[in-house]
Amino acid sequence: MSVLVVGSIALDTVKTPVEEHADLLGGSASYAAVGASFFTPVNLVGVVGDDFPSAHIDYFGSRQIDLTGLQTVPGKTFRWSGEYMWDLNTRETRSVELNVFEHFNPVLPAGYQSAPYVLLANIGPNLQNHVLDQMQRPRFVIADTMDLWINIALDELLRLLARVDMLILNDGEARQLTKETSLIKAAAKIRAMGPAYVVIKKGEHGALLFGPNAQFFSCGAYPLEDIHDPTGAGDTFAGGLAGYLAAQDHGTVTFESLRKGVVFGSILASFNVEKFSLERLRTLTQADIDERYASFRRMSQFEVLA
Ligand code: AMP
Repeated sequence: MSVLVVGSIALDTVKTPVEEHADLLGGSASYAAVGASFFTPVNLVGVVGDDFPSAHIDYFGSRQIDLTGLQTVPGKTFRWSGEYMWDLNTRETRSVELNVFEHFNPVLPAGYQSAPYVLLANIGPNLQNHVLDQMQRPRFVIADTMDLWINIALDELLRLLARVDMLILNDGEARQLTKETSLIKAAAKIRAMGPAYVVIKKGEHGALLFGPNAQFFSCGAYPLEDIHDPTGAGDTFAGGLAGYLAAQDHGTVTFESLRKGVVFGSILASFNVEKFSLERLRTLTQADIDERYASFRRMSQFEVLA
């Protein structure tokens, strides 16, 4: 089963305490689509300007990513710039240039409208809603969001939450959205807003998955010595999770497959942060993923302690 991914496609400038790189391939949909493509074919919906390097489009095409839904329009591509503090956890946005994104109208090609699995990667909730308006009856819809939309587009976000099966957000955003300190209470409140499942990401401390009937799963983060660029970790996580789910399609989504999807999402994200932009994903192999999955599994097995 293929997965439909919609989100931003960007040229990023990223500064860490030791390095700075400009005009990198970035954007929530770029990371998410490539992440998902390790598991299943992807249909990508997004917009770029006529300055967008054709090499990046070729790269998407070299993965199993269908580009019928990618619009190239006159003007400049969306640009984002961010700077990480010494802990690589705290980030400040230095600048955002919407450019062609300002008038982006995501139009789904006919063949995409019946997609069973949908990942609404981070973009304005008005655009995420607009994509859902064009869909028939997706089996499972995952949405990602960010603090900006909780601040400036809360009503649209709440409208979206009533229509999705899973929301992915980080711990700070979950607290901001619900005004709860406890992440357990926050997840319950978010589930009451619509999505049956909620994933709360805790950066270097892993992720929590919540579902109906008190279903709960805590996934650690793979221990990495060197992180070079955390940008896109969340998007790659979401892409890996969505791609894994679509690949496992059994007609319904089970908590078991969601648990495993969270583990594969975490593994994909752990590779992504090892290099700038999508550089690590470019050379990643199935064998690398399998090896890290096996070692992550050994690390997480409690039974051996009994
Ligand atoms: P993450 O590190 O997971 O928060 O995602 C970072 C990516 O999100 C970067 O590649 C940016 O280009 C993209 N991004 C940043 N701000 C926005 C925004 N307001 N809307 C859509 N994408 C954004």
